[in-house]
Amino acid sequence: MVNAIIFGAPGSGKGTYSALLKNKLNLNVISMGDIFRELMKEDTSLGKTVKSYVRAGLLVPDEITLDILKQQIAKIPKGYGFILDGFPRNLAQAQALESIAKIDVILQLVVPDWIIIERVSGRRLCRNCGAVYNLQFLKPKVDGVCDKCGGQLYQRPDDNAEVIKIRLELYECETSSLISYFKTRHVPIIIHTSDRLQIPPETVVDYFVAELKKLHLV
Ligand SMILES: [Zn+2]
Repeated sequence: MVNAIIFGAPGSGKGTYSALLKNKLNLNVISMGDIFRELMKEDTSLGKTVKSYVRAGLLVPDEITLDILKQQIAKIPKGYGFILDGFPRNLAQAQALESIAKIDVILQLVVPDWIIIERVSGRRLCRNCGAVYNLQFLKPKVDGVCDKCGGQLYQRPDDNAEVIKIRLELYECETSSLISYFKTRHVPIIIHTSDRLQIPPETVVDYFVAELKKLHLV
């Protein structure tokens, strides 16, 4: 049983790797972004509160985020660990996390900016079913048409190089202080560095599993 935090820039493949690690290691994935999206669909007071912040372009306050996280961790069956994605976002959250759960390891994805820009700017989504394609390496059979449902493909307006660069700078800023913090807390950090556009996801996941074994965490 291992409790991990995964750090990776938007477009680093974090979601894909977390899902694969989940299956390999019997982990729960706790993705704060997904949880917020689900909550916003609900007609509950918590859902409305979260929505009011997100709609205003604000971060959900730490107190609310921590409460949500506590509930999620409490739901995990005994004997299962977790991968935390999208949390903590700041030092206060990192400190608060210590009172909720023990973090055994940090998984960090280091992906050069040019790779992320290539990947994300080539991304296309289906308007109908939400399927994700990529013009570089996951092309639809027919240009602009979803293989699965025949829906129209589109590019998200914020998936362009300028916006991606801003997102990457924000991420760097946020993450570097968190990584330093966990180092001072002697939490081991496993770093995977990508050096090419296309790496089979299994390669990255196998690397993480091998390193976790070396640390006797799995
Ligand atoms: Zn579709």
